[in-house]
Amino acid sequence: MGSDPGATVRDQPTEVATDLHDGSLHVEAGHVDVLDAPDEAMQELRGAEIAMIFQDPHTALNPVYTVGEQIAEAIRKHLDMGDEAARERAIEMLDRVGIPDAEERYSDYPHEFSGGMQQRAVIAIALSCDPSLIVADEPTTALDVTIEAQILDLLKELSAEEDVAIQLITHDLGVVAELCDSVMVMYAGKPVERSSVEELYYDPKHPYTVGLMSSIPRIGDDRDRLETVPGTMPDLVQLPSGCSFHPRCPYAEDACIQHKPPLVDTETGEPIEEPDADIHTAACLEYTGDLQDGVEFDVQIREDAAADGGESV
Ligand code: SF4
Repeated sequence: MGSDPGATVRDQPTEVATDLHDGSLHVEAGHVDVLDAPDEAMQELRGAEIAMIFQDPHTALNPVYTVGEQIAEAIRKHLDMGDEAARERAIEMLDRVGIPDAEERYSDYPHEFSGGMQQRAVIAIALSCDPSLIVADEPTTALDVTIEAQILDLLKELSAEEDVAIQLITHDLGVVAELCDSVMVMYAGKPVERSSVEELYYDPKHPYTVGLMSSIPRIGDDRDRLETVPGTMPDLVQLPSGCSFHPRCPYAEDACIQHKPPLVDTETGEPIEEPDADIHTAACLEYTGDLQDGVEFDVQIREDAAADGGESV
């Protein structure tokens, strides 16, 4: 896995922004093509409509400004508040993400916060302007497992209680199972499978997804060696012809070298115009009827996991 294989979204039952698709974004204010929008429009969008939680809070925070000032700055810019009101809202945000003694800690510099507190502060910045969508890029990678669990709990709580959708970019399929409603698996910069989390774990449709699932170690697993996806990620500048996954796919046929598979409904083989988490889609010639031998996965679901409604495959 040389690039982020998964991008997942926790959808909210609201009409806020929830969909990034081919560079287009639907926000409350209307439809924006984020690949084509002028700088001013993007400045209005960033922070206010879309906010970001970066991978490493240590480098995401500016070491020469206090934590509170870094939250208040975004509030002054996007919510048009004065100094005092912005300071009050920043303290409220620090409190919201679980920083104790938020008022005193407002004036601390990032180096005075622990790693977990720094990531909470980055989440407070993301939340501060009441965005419709938060993009969280590997938000727990730089943290130890205890703090990771706390940050995941916080994200889960925020997505349930605040009017915001969270798009999570991660390599960690365990985090996806824990936190997300729908999932999109990416390979070589393109979506190769999209479905609800439950569907993806119980009934993966793309050979790359199956390879990822098979490589996860599990408690009670008596295999001597974990499965791997053979080969390495392709050069993104010179992608293989046809299906980008064909050099690593155990089911590749001549057609896979010649034809690029579109993302289609796995039931009907029809292309999908608008992404819909209720429709299981995959980019594999199996679903367009172009393979001679077809693909056959052996998906195993552990009895105990299935009974819990949890881990599968
Ligand atoms: S199109 Fe061919 S190479 Fe690509 S995933 Fe499907 S079977 Fe494998």
